[in-house]
Amino acid sequence: MRRRDVLLRGGAALSLGGLANCTTSPAPQQTIPSMLQSAPVLPLDAPMAPIRSSFDRVTRTIVGLRPFRKPGPRLEAVKLGNKHVVHNYGHGGGGVSLSWGVAELAAAMVKPHGQRDIAVLGCGAIGLSTALELQRAGANVTIYAAEFPPYTTSNVAGAMWNPVSLFERDQVSPETLDMLHQASRIAFYRFVRYANDPRYGVYWIRQYSLSRRPMSTLYPYMGGDDLYPGLVRNRSGGGPFGSPHWDGYYTLMIDPDIYLRALVNDFRGAGGQMVERTFESQDDVARLTEASIVNCLGLGAGKVFEDEEIIPARGQLSVLLPQSDIDYGYVGRFADHGLLYSFPRKTGILLGGSVGKGDWNLEVDQSEVERMVNGHAMLAARV
Ligand SMILES: Cc1cc2nc3c(=O)[nH]c(=O)nc-3n(C[C@H](O)[C@H](O)[C@H](O)COP(=O)(O)OP(=O)(O)OC[C@H]3O[C@@H](n4cnc5c(N)ncnc54)[C@H](O)[C@@H]3O)c2cc1C
Repeated sequence: MRRRDVLLRGGAALSLGGLANCTTSPAPQQTIPSMLQSAPVLPLDAPMAPIRSSFDRVTRTIVGLRPFRKPGPRLEAVKLGNKHVVHNYGHGGGGVSLSWGVAELAAAMVKPHGQRDIAVLGCGAIGLSTALELQRAGANVTIYAAEFPPYTTSNVAGAMWNPVSLFERDQVSPETLDMLHQASRIAFYRFVRYANDPRYGVYWIRQYSLSRRPMSTLYPYMGGDDLYPGLVRNRSGGGPFGSPHWDGYYTLMIDPDIYLRALVNDFRGAGGQMVERTFESQDDVARLTEASIVNCLGLGAGKVFEDEEIIPARGQLSVLLPQSDIDYGYVGRFADHGLLYSFPRKTGILLGGSVGKGDWNLEVDQSEVERMVNGHAMLAARV
């Protein structure tokens, strides 16, 4: 077995009185420049070293299915028989980024029914952050999941802090957009606190969005421009790789294997239990002993809670050997090579750019590996 079925509940009693403490506090107003002063980031127009993109430097290729809903993530409290369920799933291509925000909002919706025992379903980025928020409010939390880190979709994520690919623009409601705005702000200011702490694998990078045509100013950056420190928009000429149009800003890189391992440790350290359990239907959920449940099953919520609006958005990443001289990421669509993005983890350079909506295939697509390695090599040659 890859893990224990049941991990012992630790003795660390939480002193908070109960979930009444679990309120949504406004995101603290921090000063971005003061954060940047202490972060090792180069100016946006500093020279870029080339990524060494070649097949012999690929260490692995991984595939994951983003939990995508056309109307956007679901954050909603419902009744299931005599249980109180808060749904918190369907975060598409931005679940890691949003995690602390939707966790705080979901925890505020939990009704404790006079009990301190709460079940969280799912142990990805969303389940873990929700469980930690509930612990912070004084709850005894048990996470039930079929898979735990490092075997979740969240471990496959890039993961750059950028809450995008969350909904179809023509299907999202103003209420969901408001929720996502709020969640983005809460989440960003939580992640900032982890920056440059090697235990969590979160650190600053510079990031560029590249385009052959003028960058769109139609939609604002999710959560507000101030969450993208250093943001320069709609620049023409002088862009990375000779790109004619570009935006640039600083953001956080989250190495999910390191980060999720740290969250598991935090959760267990605060007395949380983790139980391996696969749910086939709502009846299985209804049989849990806890009266309050938060559903963070990601894509799995579709089958268990009969939500036909959630679909997979397949993604494939190839990881190159690390390069200490790469401090930047980028995303853009390029002639002959299509959508390409790269993120600089300290443990490796990520090559990505595949999004297959409705595609459940978890096998590696070799033609995508070739497209990425060759495409990023083409860009590196222009540095
Ligand atoms: C290639 C790729 C790149 C990405 N890049 C980024 C990025 O740069 N930034 C970003 O923010 N996000 C990114 N994402 C998106 C991100 O990975 C997801 O939004 C996020 O992982 C969703 O988290 P989750 O906790 O809801 O789901 P998951 O991590 O999938 O966790 C779901 C949990 O529920 C459990 N579960 C599911 N069904 C059942 C069941 N029936 N019974 C019991 N347990 C069950 C699972 O075992 C697991 O524990 C990327 C995703 C992919 C695939």
